[in-house]
Amino acid sequence: MSIIATNIKKTFGAYTALEGVSLNVPAGKLVALLGPSGSGKTTLLRIIAGLEFADEGSGRIEFHGEDVTETPAGKRGVGFVFQHYALFRHMTVAQNIAFGLTVRPRKERPPQKEIDARVQELLKLIQLEDLGNRFPTQLSGGQRQRVALARALAVQPKVLLLDEPFGALDARVRKDLRRWLRHFQREIGITTIFVTHDQEEALELADEVVVMNNAKIEQVGTPQEVYDRPSTPFVIEFLGNVNRFAALGHPLHGAGSDVLYVRPHDVDIQRDYHGEHGIRVRVQHVFSAGNYGRIALIRADNGETIDAELSRVRLAELSLQVGDEVWVVFRHIRLFPAGAFSERDVATDDAIPATLDAGRGI
Ligand code: ATP
Repeated sequence: MSIIATNIKKTFGAYTALEGVSLNVPAGKLVALLGPSGSGKTTLLRIIAGLEFADEGSGRIEFHGEDVTETPAGKRGVGFVFQHYALFRHMTVAQNIAFGLTVRPRKERPPQKEIDARVQELLKLIQLEDLGNRFPTQLSGGQRQRVALARALAVQPKVLLLDEPFGALDARVRKDLRRWLRHFQREIGITTIFVTHDQEEALELADEVVVMNNAKIEQVGTPQEVYDRPSTPFVIEFLGNVNRFAALGHPLHGAGSDVLYVRPHDVDIQRDYHGEHGIRVRVQHVFSAGNYGRIALIRADNGETIDAELSRVRLAELSLQVGDEVWVVFRHIRLFPAGAFSERDVATDDAIPATLDAGRGI
């Protein structure tokens, strides 16, 4: 079931929550709506669900080519899971999962045996086969969210909409659940839209990431595309750590203050450097827990900080100490003209252009 949203506008009084947003979700894909708080993600999701409607006369929502713009939520065939597991406390896990089926009018309700079988199947799917008789208070937060998902799936929705479903969970459980969800979504192949403000979650989970900012979509692409080829400064800054420098007087782009970005893992540190592109820096801090070492460096020429990320092996080779004077070389940079939101990529795999070296002032 594909989903197409076209030119969706939504205002709340004088406030514009969505400014003509269009989105195309191919059937069976898992798409993440990613953006900071207030960017319009939830509003867009609720409009797709039919829990909210676009402004009068604007926009169109299609499910599998069918216009559902005016169709109420109950008739759209969507399964919805929110951040706060809204399980019924007085019902067992099995009763919670069965809820959507048991409340159907008698004529549409499957026989009890069929409902029981469906619940068992879903309990297996969410890997909680033995917990059907427990009550929600006897489950962990992660288990409750899996039950909420099973409950949403019980009525066999055509589309699954998830609004920060793991937002209330701790980091470890979140990570496990997101892997589980990805696996599970692929297995059943249901078209899924997932709202998150956590870039790592979006990049790890989604087939496509929709980056939202200020009521608009900034970029749509695979995780690799949005990370490696960000189309706006907002996207590069939002997706992970990045060093940002004012690049004055770049000869390729004329005068003016362009902005240059370098990811910490594209900063190489060298003890001895004899090329023209090195920047002299002093080691300020070395943090080496985990797989990577993170190093804060201070530029000798202007005191700016540069963050670098190196493998543990490379870090050990360099045996960096606080106060050491070393060189950095950028492996890959991105340059955006000041104030403009069009990107000009001057990335190079060899070394940075001579014009960007320390002497010319980045
Ligand atoms: P978050 O991550 O914080 O949930 P979001 O990107 O999902 O943010 P939305 O919930 O879509 O953002 O809200 C977008 C903007 O619209 C916010 O500024 C919010 O205050 C406003 N808004 C949302 N719903 C309403 C409403 N019912 N009435 C008035 N303003 C609203």
